[in-house]
Amino acid sequence: MLSHRVKYYKHSIRILWNKLNSKQYITKDKYSAITVEMSGVCNLNCEFCAYKDKDEGKVIMSNDDFFDNINQLADLDQEYIALTPLMGDIFIDKHFSDKIDFLERHPKIKGYEFITNLITASEDALSQLSNAKKLTRMTISFYGHSLASFRKVTNRPASQYHRLIKNVNYLASISDKFQAKLAGCIKTDQKFNWTPHDKPGADENDLQRSVRKLAQQNGDFYWSGNEGDLDSWSGRITQADMDELDMGFKIVGPSVPMIGPCALLFAGPVIMADGRVNACACRAEKGLIIGDVKKSPLYEILSPENPLFEDLLARHKKNDYPKECINCKIFMSIYRKPHKRSTITTDEYLDERRGQCERARLKSHMNKS
Ligand code: SF4
Ligand code: SF4
Repeated sequence: MLSHRVKYYKHSIRILWNKLNSKQYITKDKYSAITVEMSGVCNLNCEFCAYKDKDEGKVIMSNDDFFDNINQLADLDQEYIALTPLMGDIFIDKHFSDKIDFLERHPKIKGYEFITNLITASEDALSQLSNAKKLTRMTISFYGHSLASFRKVTNRPASQYHRLIKNVNYLASISDKFQAKLAGCIKTDQKFNWTPHDKPGADENDLQRSVRKLAQQNGDFYWSGNEGDLDSWSGRITQADMDELDMGFKIVGPSVPMIGPCALLFAGPVIMADGRVNACACRAEKGLIIGDVKKSPLYEILSPENPLFEDLLARHKKNDYPKECINCKIFMSIYRKPHKRSTITTDEYLDERRGQCERARLKSHMNKS
């Protein structure tokens, strides 16, 4: 695998060339999704996550707010919804089932997906998902590969680790019923080099055995491995923190040079559990907030003419990035051509978004009159 640094230099020349030739690449595919956070609350407190400093938005979105947000997105022609919170876990929501049921029944919503740590999922919730027709992908994010590493990374007691194993075993037992793609990834000691698809070793623990069972029972289970390159969350997580953790994690910056606007400003914002709208699905930061659904309709917040979005984009165009974006690991220049994806220019994207917002605005006014 190419190192972060090698990738950086590899992309630099192409990006500069594309900028010189005014070529822009905004990914456009039917799975582009806007995120709606059911929960801004998490059951873990991972060492490499800014959740430990999170002081706003630690709430659950009410059913009424969730339904209203989905209806507004449907009016904006959004057919696919992402449910992964910026910081939180969706199974914390006691009304998870009502919200999934709403998405399944919604005539205009075609699909949804999410990433979870799975620990607070109930058997009923997992059974409901095994029958879901619109769930496209559920990814389990594991933190630690043993009881000791789980506790070290998450700062949570053994009871949560045992609950995770119980849930993975239950998921394995019903995983053949899932229409959705099931996947897993892990953040743990970088010396841990393992996949559930390899031949089992003699010293595997209960967690490894449960993930192996899931991979065998599901047949199509995708394992993306152990991720060690991490974001600094605007400087709140430092390399010194990671060195102290002593698990080999590296804080890295962008894999491409920061030139021009970040393509993630055009990839789908996040409606957070408390109603604030974050411009991208990466870092949740004050400087990235472009509105609040409790104060304005989504067709105004997502409009290219929203002054908060206009300001953010104008700064990115001048390479004058707000502090929230500096050194972001996820930054992706609009001048980098994505592999095998259909793309449009930023102007084409904004024209399309403008049309969607205008149609939603007219519809809303007609419904009121
Ligand atoms: S599970 Fe995810 S959101 Fe929760 S603390 Fe860990 S990294 Fe953060
Ligand atoms: S640089 Fe990072 S935080 Fe800023 S818009 Fe891009 S993905 Fe979001």
